[in-house]
Amino acid sequence: MKITSIKGFSDIFPGEVETWQWVEQKVREIFTFYNFAEIRIPIVEKTELFSRSLGETTDIVEKEMYTFADQDAKGTLLTLRPEGTAGVVRAYVESEMFKIEAVRKLYYLGPMFRRERPQKGRLRQFHQIGAEALGRSDAFIDVEVLLLLSDFFSSVGLEGAELQLNSLGCEQCRPKYRERLLDFLKDHDVGLCGNCRRRMDRNPLRVLDCKEPGCGEETKNAPSILDSLCDPCREHFDLVQRLLWQADVRYDLNSRMVRGLDYYCRTTFEWKSSQLGSQSAIAAGGRYDGLVQELGGPAIAGVGFAMGIERLIMLLRMKENHAPAGPLVYVAWVSEKARGWAFPVVHRLRRQGVLVEMEGEARSLKSQMRRADKLRAPLVLILGDDELDKGIALLRDMTNKQQEEISLEKVEEVLMLRKAN
Ligand code: ATP
Ligand code: MG
Repeated sequence: MKITSIKGFSDIFPGEVETWQWVEQKVREIFTFYNFAEIRIPIVEKTELFSRSLGETTDIVEKEMYTFADQDAKGTLLTLRPEGTAGVVRAYVESEMFKIEAVRKLYYLGPMFRRERPQKGRLRQFHQIGAEALGRSDAFIDVEVLLLLSDFFSSVGLEGAELQLNSLGCEQCRPKYRERLLDFLKDHDVGLCGNCRRRMDRNPLRVLDCKEPGCGEETKNAPSILDSLCDPCREHFDLVQRLLWQADVRYDLNSRMVRGLDYYCRTTFEWKSSQLGSQSAIAAGGRYDGLVQELGGPAIAGVGFAMGIERLIMLLRMKENHAPAGPLVYVAWVSEKARGWAFPVVHRLRRQGVLVEMEGEARSLKSQMRRADKLRAPLVLILGDDELDKGIALLRDMTNKQQEEISLEKVEEVLMLRKAN
C-alpha cells in the first residue's frame, strides 16, 4: 500500500526548491549586512517553554501545539516548536550570551509546527525566517528591524507589502487600558464568540484580534490602546513613526492589532499583502521586553519578527521563476568504452565547477539528444567507439547546431574555457 504524507505537511520539490534556496541566500546576505548572526536551535523543546512565553490563553498554546510525553523522563512534556522566539531566548539565557556582549542580533530559519486547519497559505509544518535583537530597548532598533525587513522585501523584488503598526504599551499603561477595554466588552458581550467570552476576563485584548466577524462587528467602537499610552510609551512610539517617515517606509496605524502572543509590548507590527487572500500576513513581530526575564534571565529587552516563507514564496512565484540553469555540458555516450572514458572526465570537470550531466544507461544517440534538449544544455559532448578510435570527441553547440571535432586530450581544457565564457 502506498504511504502518503500527512495533511498539512508538504514536500518541496526541485523546480520550487530553487526559489527557496534563492530566498535563503538573500536572507543570509541582507541579514548579515545588518549584523545579525545565524543561530540554529532545536526543533523540540520542553512544552513549558512555549506555554510560559507565549501565554496559556493563546491559540497556539491552547490548541495548536504538537505535544507528546518524553519517554525518557516521566512527567516531562515536549513540543514541536510552533515559533522561534521562545527557543532563541531560551538559548540566549541558557548560554548567558548577554555576559559576552550586551547586544546580540540573531536570526534563524527553519520549520515550525502548528496543528491548525490546513488551507491555502496555512500549513501544519511551515517555515519561518526570524530575527531577534536582544539587549536594546530604544526605538531605533525597532525601526532597524523594520528596515531590515523592508530591505529584504526589496531585495527579493516583493512589492505591495503593507505595514501595519501599533503599540501595546507597557506594564504601566496596559493594565489601565485592559480595564477600560474589559468594561467595554462587558457591555458588548452578546455578539462575541464563545471563545472570546471565555477568554475575555483573562485576556481582553485578544478579543480585538479574533477573526470571527461577529467579534469584529461588536468591538468596532472599542477604546483604542493608542489613546491610553503612558508618556514614555507615547514618546517611544512617536520616535518609531518619525524614523519610519525619515526612511520613507509607509505604514498604517492599526490599534486593533494586538498580535497573538502574550509576550509583546510597545511596538508591534505586521506586514500584509492583499494578493495572499485571507491568509494575508507575511511577517509579524514586535517588542518583548519582559520575555528574557520571564525565561529566567536578567531584565533585557528584545524586539524581533518572524516571516512565513511559504507565503513569501507564493508571492514571489506569482512574479518569476528562479529555476537555476541546467547543465552546461551533456555527455552523450554510445558505447560502454565511451562511457568508461567519459566517467572520470565528468568527475574532474565537476570538481572544477563545470555543471555536467551524463546518462546512466545505454540509450540511442537520438534519445540522448532529446534529453540534452530537455535539460537545455547548451553543449553536448558525443562519444562513441569510432570517435575514441580516432582520438576525438564531437562537441555540438545546441544553439547554432554546429559540431566540431576536438581531440580527447583537449576535451577538459575546451570545456573549462566554455565555462569561463
Ligand atoms: P495568522 O494570522 O496568519 O495565523 P500568525 O499571527 O499566527 O498568522 P505568527 O505567529 O506571527 O503568525 O507567524 C509569523 C508568520 O508566519 C505569519 O505572518 C505567516 O506568514 C507565517 N505563518 C504563521 N502560521 C502559519 C501557517 N500555519 N502556515 C504557513 N505560514 C504561517
Ligand atoms: Mg495563527
